Amino acid sequence: MRFFSALFLVLFFNVTLEAKLNLIKQDNPDSNTTLLVIGGIHGNEPGGYYAPAILATHYKILSKNLWIVPNLNEASIRKFRRGIHGDMNRKFAHIKKNDKDKEIVDEIKKLILAPNVSLILNLHDGHGFYRKKSQGRIYNPRAWGQTCVIDQCKLLKDKPFCDLNKIATEVKDNINKKLLKKHHSFNVKNTNTKKDNDKDMQQSLTYFAIQHLKPAFAIETSKSLSSVSQKVFYQLVAIEEYMKIMDINYTRDFELNKQSIDKIIKNYGTLEINHNILLNLNNIKKSLSYIPIKSTHNSFKFSNPLGSVRKHNGKYLIYIANHLVLRLKPQYFKMAQNCPSKYLFVVDGKKVSVQKASEIFVKDDFKISKSNNMRVNVIGFYKRGITNESGLSISYKDLNKRYAVDKHKKVFRVEFYKNNEFCSMIMVHFK
Ligand SMILES: [Zn+2]
Repeated sequence: MRFFSALFLVLFFNVTLEAKLNLIKQDNPDSNTTLLVIGGIHGNEPGGYYAPAILATHYKILSKNLWIVPNLNEASIRKFRRGIHGDMNRKFAHIKKNDKDKEIVDEIKKLILAPNVSLILNLHDGHGFYRKKSQGRIYNPRAWGQTCVIDQCKLLKDKPFCDLNKIATEVKDNINKKLLKKHHSFNVKNTNTKKDNDKDMQQSLTYFAIQHLKPAFAIETSKSLSSVSQKVFYQLVAIEEYMKIMDINYTRDFELNKQSIDKIIKNYGTLEINHNILLNLNNIKKSLSYIPIKSTHNSFKFSNPLGSVRKHNGKYLIYIANHLVLRLKPQYFKMAQNCPSKYLFVVDGKKVSVQKASEIFVKDDFKISKSNNMRVNVIGFYKRGITNESGLSISYKDLNKRYAVDKHKKVFRVEFYKNNEFCSMIMVHFK
């Protein structure tokens, strides 16, 4: 477990307000074999974006390379819609100059064509359960759910992973050994994109890839499965099978079952702003005010790859996937230069040095040691005539609970300022 906590510290997902590809790489420098996993091309297919997010944070690649774009269509994921600017997966043959998806589609095309990329997976949740013969509305040949999709049997050039049908068949056979329920069985669906002159499919990401002799597959779990964690389960089982075929060795820090997946999905993780504020997004209040940030160029770092920020009516809306987790009302400040990286506290009678943008746990009381040029503001604490709240012993009863940042009213903000410029915020968490 120790190993993975280290991995967590390294992996943070930098988010800017401009559209940009969220590419997460795990590279082993001595190999050119790279699996590219693309999730979230359709914003209302959560199996397709939670699985790559978990792959990015809970797997460690020990050989070859794994590149992940967990949330290609981030704006549509926020709204839980297939595509707010139309179907992104129908824009890979032709795209209009002014199409709002153009920048993203161009970027992902470039990535697909990168010389290192050896195999591409495009993740979806499709309707129903695919069956070769019709067994009604849900189980029929037109359904997409529970399939390994290929555009044709083979690539037209002899190179690694070019036997698409053989690979997809092996993957589906192995998935079928791990079914949660019998009717979840997987099949290979060959869309015969070229032969059948399927104009729709010829616009797709995977067809673009194979046109350029890049082996590509879609994984479709069923929208009819009863929970997101079931969809993610099958996506991850499938991805692991492709990794085995590519000789990618990996470790994973959880048991691959519905319960563990459910727990991981529900963990929103943390958001670090400008390297001087750390918010735990679990149990946080819906809205926080007077957050000291810059008027432009703020950096938002999520521990969760599905984290995103949108500015709306002067507020910053913080999302994990389609969940609006928090509204931040900013108070714009200049960021002070040369701030300390550690701050001295006395916590329950013991001296401790506390890292900036972190959280401390307090049982009875805390005190911030006095520093010459630093003004301390404990949000929710008030004592008449006092503007610098360092040097005072503060306990839970001294704090106005209205100002807590969390739903349980246990966590409070301590802010450090230098000449009215902001340095850092530390969270005090009462046990
Ligand atoms: Zn889809």
